[in-house]
Amino acid sequence: MQDLVLDRPIVQKYGGTSVGTLERIQNVAKRVAEQYRQGQRQIALVVSAMSGETNRLVELVSGINPHSSLRNYDMAVSAGEQVAVALMAAALEKEGLPSLGLLAYQLGIFTDSLHSKARIREIDCQRLYQCWADGIVPVVAGFQGVTENLEITTLGRGGSDTSAVALAVALNAAVCEINTDVDGFYTADPRVVPDARLVEEMDFEVALEMASLGSKVLHTRCVELGAKFHMPIIVRNTFTPNDHQRTIIMNLSTQRKLEAPVVSGVTLDRNVVRLSVTQLPARGGMIAAVFDTIAASGVNVDIIVHNKQENSDSMRIGFTIGSADLVRTRALLESWCRDQGGNISCEAAEGLAKVSVVGLGMQSHPGVASRVFSVLENEGVAIHMISTSEIKISCVVAERDGDKAARILHRAFIEEEVR
Ligand code: ADP
Ligand code: ASP
Ligand code: MG
Repeated sequence: MQDLVLDRPIVQKYGGTSVGTLERIQNVAKRVAEQYRQGQRQIALVVSAMSGETNRLVELVSGINPHSSLRNYDMAVSAGEQVAVALMAAALEKEGLPSLGLLAYQLGIFTDSLHSKARIREIDCQRLYQCWADGIVPVVAGFQGVTENLEITTLGRGGSDTSAVALAVALNAAVCEINTDVDGFYTADPRVVPDARLVEEMDFEVALEMASLGSKVLHTRCVELGAKFHMPIIVRNTFTPNDHQRTIIMNLSTQRKLEAPVVSGVTLDRNVVRLSVTQLPARGGMIAAVFDTIAASGVNVDIIVHNKQENSDSMRIGFTIGSADLVRTRALLESWCRDQGGNISCEAAEGLAKVSVVGLGMQSHPGVASRVFSVLENEGVAIHMISTSEIKISCVVAERDGDKAARILHRAFIEEEVR
């Protein structure tokens, strides 16, 4: 395939599966070398760890100590990218292309110090400009960052997408390509919903909502950055690159947004855990105190349900968090409950999933929520929690029902809608 040669830099990110074997790494290097020879000189590659590697590192850390400090966690789990960067640079050299692998501290990807979920503050691009001036292709480690004090951080699972878009913004690149193992952004995860369709053009707003609700094809914060800095993101297949089979994520015109379908996509998030605090005294300040405890540790709380029975002087608060945060959040809450004394206690429910429908058109179409509930309940899927916004409706269901729920909603709102 002949790639378009652009006179501005381009950033190409290759995810874990794309660099999952030596052969795949060499294939990527071949493609990059070809583009370089066609005249695309300012290419910056961002790579993730080889597939499975970050999971292996996470398991090593939790195997040695599930309560390990997040500083240790970051130091261990960021290591996968170091290997992938070096292998990619070596593969490019083999293709006759001088290359320089750069870790976050070597380039200067500065983040805050919120270990395991750090946010990028600034990227120093000097070494990249120098590489290009010297005819060298730089390969940058995704997922990792460094604080002012030279502490290693990571950006959260799936964070290499965010590294890539942040780098594209810092370089004022023409585009940020996310090369992955599917053809683009689909109306649902094609591995769960076989009838999902590729979306050719997607508005940032829809992509943001879908990513944050569990479409892991893009890390949520990469979409946030793309939207904020008007950086178009192209999602495409590393293995079968094709200019027609891909998704461009950008700001669609108001006209296009007005014509947006009621539901553009269905998402499934399997990493949902519900925590409940029970026997909480029904007096002012208690709810805030629970959530202050959690917020202080940087954990994001999602759906919140609060009940207080009439004539009762206690209440119950239930809320969901990502399963990766369970061990820490539960330990924090249990210690908070002990400090309060009385009967306050905390319980966790695992084995849940969140299924959502997303669409800009929902804003002007009442009745979507009731249809979501009826199609799920008619097919025997019990709904445990609900949350809605102007452009999404989410239901927490049993994890074993998750795939089925996604397929039912996709059929009802996307496949049947177009007939
Ligand atoms: P990479 O390693 O390249 O970053 P990921 O595994 O993080 O790849 O993301 C790609 C995966 O995202 C796909 O294999 C697919 O199963 C999943 N996915 C979830 N939702 C969607 C969606 N709406 N469109 C495309 N892929 C999706
Ligand atoms: N390797 C990291 C992970 O598995 C980052 C990424 O793949 O984007 O989460
Ligand atoms: Mg990913």
